[in-house]
Amino acid sequence: MDQIVALTRALDFAARKHTDQRRKGVRAEPYINHLAEVAHLLAEATGGRDPTLVIAGLLHDTIEDTETDRAELEAAFGPDVARLVAEVTDDKRLPKEVRKQRQIDAAPRKSDRAKKLKLADKISNLRAIIASPPAGWSPDRQRGYLDWACAVAQGCRGVDPWLEARFDEVVRDGRAHLQPVRRTAGP
Ligand code: ZN
Repeated sequence: MDQIVALTRALDFAARKHTDQRRKGVRAEPYINHLAEVAHLLAEATGGRDPTLVIAGLLHDTIEDTETDRAELEAAFGPDVARLVAEVTDDKRLPKEVRKQRQIDAAPRKSDRAKKLKLADKISNLRAIIASPPAGWSPDRQRGYLDWACAVAQGCRGVDPWLEARFDEVVRDGRAHLQPVRRTAGP
């Protein structure tokens, strides 16, 4: 399949599926911003040589967050894309804390491409939280998210130095940004 056609079809599909969703940040950015960022990170990381991974990047939240199932993705984009998206999809029937621990435990056993996709996803999520934290998230809660993202990313290391460097960068920025404010003694 022509790659430009496949990519733009995935972009169109993702935009439609997520059309009513916004990011959790105070700016409530359109959800497609996140998908575009993840896809672009993957394209940069792989030098444009893995279009299937970039397409999976655009579609990576469709099963988890929209009314899309694996069979639909497989019919539209083929088994490779569907498998990759399924690999990075949480089981939403489980409680949130269980899902979060599962992400940490399962990351080292993922395929190399799924590890790249997870890293790109975490980079984008951390950037978003730093730039536009969700309303009501205290610095402590943001730090907790950052620590959790680091634990997941730990299991995704060893497959893409460029993505790891971007991840480490955003963690550095995040920690600097979230440093507890030192109060000077009042008069
Ligand atoms: Zn995502």
